[in-house]
Amino acid sequence: MEELVIIAHRGASGYLPEHTLEAKAMAYAMQPDYIEQDIVLSKDNVPIVIHDIHLDAVTNVKEVFPKRKRVDGRYYVIDFTWEELQKLNVTERFDYQTGKPVFPDRFPIDKSHFKLHTFQDEIELIQGLNQSTGKDIGLYPEIKEPAFHRTEGKDISKIVLEVLAAYGYKDNNSNCILQCFDFQENKRIRNHLKSKLTLVQLMEFEHEKDSLEIISEYAQGIGPSLSLLKDNKFVENTRKKGLFIHAYTLRTDVMSNWKTKLKAFILTNRIDGVFTDQPDQVYNLTHTR
Ligand code: CA
Repeated sequence: MEELVIIAHRGASGYLPEHTLEAKAMAYAMQPDYIEQDIVLSKDNVPIVIHDIHLDAVTNVKEVFPKRKRVDGRYYVIDFTWEELQKLNVTERFDYQTGKPVFPDRFPIDKSHFKLHTFQDEIELIQGLNQSTGKDIGLYPEIKEPAFHRTEGKDISKIVLEVLAAYGYKDNNSNCILQCFDFQENKRIRNHLKSKLTLVQLMEFEHEKDSLEIISEYAQGIGPSLSLLKDNKFVENTRKKGLFIHAYTLRTDVMSNWKTKLKAFILTNRIDGVFTDQPDQVYNLTHTR
């Protein structure tokens, strides 16, 4: 069971506000194989580590910049410069309409002091810790909504690949796996942008299960939701294509009987890795005899 690849989903997001440097440092100490970054561009093309293209479910943007919402009432990362984004405070995720926490038993809303950070900041944190601890924990960046970025005149993939290359992540020997939900964009990253990095095709919908043939032409693995793995035939077909399976998202505070379920998934060869909000708990389960 020790071979299970553990990916810290948005950092140790079960314990600290997601995608903060604090959550990443805590995740690092839990010895995952990879730490995840979701990436969205600022107005001035700075790659920001944040899950949504919106700011209003994890920051105080409504209070700091009340007039900067769009007609849909939302506040977009891409409408703010990095200098402006640094004025915001980050908090545990909440419902942007009601203000209520998404996970009421996790870190409290509006306590302590957290900020947004750039992709470069996070790479330097992880590489710095790799140097000071002698470990080698990898990056697992996700390119968020490339089609949206394109309508805003931005090529997010190109910028992310440039940053990765500048820090030495260039090919499949690099300790980095690049992920995206957009099939066309993953294909473009491989064929047009000529990236040699290990690629994962994220999968969300039932109908996408028919696309394994195409996926295997550009990606090395898939990142399906755990629910898609209930389908034996789909798992079997994925194995036939030689693709690895890193499933999302294991939340030990939400999923009942998660230990039994995860063990069963591993024993039936349904899963090679898992994105989890609680990397320590998965580590403890898979590293005890
Ligand atoms: Ca993600």
